Amino acid sequence: MSKVIVTGGGPAGMFAAIAAAENGHQVLLLEKNEKLGKKLFITGKGRCNLTNACDMETLLSGVISNPRFLYSAFSAYDNGRVIDFFEKEGLALKKERGGRIFPVSDHSSDVIAVLAKKLKDTHVSVRLNTEVEQVLAEPYALEESAKSEDSGKRGKEMQKTKVSGVALKDGETVYADSVIIATGGYSYRATGSTGDGYRFAESLGHTVTELTPSLVPFRTKEAYVKDMQGLSLKNVTVRIRFEKKLLFEEFGEMLFTHFGVSGPLILTASARISSKYKKNELEMEIDLKPALSEEQLDMRVLKDLGEAKNRLFKNSLGKLFPAKLLPVILKLSTIDPEKRANEITREERLSFVRLIKAFPLTLTGTSDFNEAIITRGGIKVKEVNPSTMESKLVKNLFFCGEVLDLDALTGGFNLQIAWSTGYLAGNSVS
Ligand SMILES: Cc1cc2nc3c(=O)[nH]c(=O)nc-3n(C[C@H](O)[C@H](O)[C@H](O)COP(=O)(O)OP(=O)(O)OC[C@H]3O[C@@H](n4cnc5c(N)ncnc54)[C@H](O)[C@@H]3O)c2cc1C
Repeated sequence: MSKVIVTGGGPAGMFAAIAAAENGHQVLLLEKNEKLGKKLFITGKGRCNLTNACDMETLLSGVISNPRFLYSAFSAYDNGRVIDFFEKEGLALKKERGGRIFPVSDHSSDVIAVLAKKLKDTHVSVRLNTEVEQVLAEPYALEESAKSEDSGKRGKEMQKTKVSGVALKDGETVYADSVIIATGGYSYRATGSTGDGYRFAESLGHTVTELTPSLVPFRTKEAYVKDMQGLSLKNVTVRIRFEKKLLFEEFGEMLFTHFGVSGPLILTASARISSKYKKNELEMEIDLKPALSEEQLDMRVLKDLGEAKNRLFKNSLGKLFPAKLLPVILKLSTIDPEKRANEITREERLSFVRLIKAFPLTLTGTSDFNEAIITRGGIKVKEVNPSTMESKLVKNLFFCGEVLDLDALTGGFNLQIAWSTGYLAGNSVS
């Protein structure tokens, strides 16, 4: 029986602790908050979209950064096993739109309760309000390294230190044979994800790739978004370009906020568009009527104007747009809102149709980490063994979850990464 310390009591850390304990190790889980799974509690708007019931190909295509690194982790513990695990522990699950899996109760607290009970049943010692300050390592003799059977060839060449334990913020040192870092990313800092794991890894020789917010709203140059704050547009197509290069085009739902745009389409765009473009101003257009061609839309506008011949232009479009959008689109149109519907020229009408098909916005960048669902970037995966989650630089040091350079789309994919990598790390401790 070896001593294992897991740093971080989020989904990845809890799963790693359970897997290691089930293999007979003596496991200590350290969490700096007063309770486990603070971020898990707010997932899926408090309902916890804990995985996705899709096939392996879709699972991998939902991962944005380094999907290939996850082959082994997803094979070792796929979404089917996650569903089985929670159901066997007595949590009833349901499938929603797009294969999203939630607890039937719609309470993320029930997911946390299952994990807390399992930690207890597997005799994991949990210490709350316990902040790890540093992960400790000591020189590792190469002869000893060469004897090791479980390190890969590259590992033998590169592992020159091995972990010895952790130093806590209160000055205490806790020794262990293995340490698993599961401290999460950098977003929603109030939940405890303050990037500590990046610091630990760097001090042990690891590289941390550029960290940027992802699954995050965008800000816009145009102040008129504020007039539409709270308005959700369903069934629209959003296109985003950088200097004519089309970076993103998708159909779905979006939302206006007091400073810009958000909602499912926009969050997906923030994940799909590479960080190098996100630093620039990007042109966005919303096709408000994607089901209609320009010609069909023109016929529709003509019909609406025809039915309201003597009305003013500003009062003749009520059927086409939601109330909050109407004043803004009238402001952007070249047509005088006080003009009578029957006085509008064909040219004016066609330019109005083009405005509906390409409602313009300028994106000036994303919101910061405090509004990001996920962190893009993290510990460089080339320095981690994908079959075990062990560091290739430091023996018996493991990583799992968002602290790694892995991120995915919404839909339960990010938690699946936490479960799969957490399980693999915990199960790989020797
Ligand atoms: C608002 C929101 C909604 C989300 N909804 C979903 C969803 O529905 N589905 C989905 O798949 N994903 C969702 N996510 C993403 C998901 O929550 C994360 O991918 C996941 O929590 C990452 O798990 P983790 O265990 O790696 O890190 P975390 O959950 O961040 O856990 C890390 C833990 O480590 C602790 N810790 C950090 N530093 C130290 C230290 N020095 N000492 C001791 N403890 C430490 C932290 O306090 C924290 O408890 C959402 C994220 C947010 C912000």
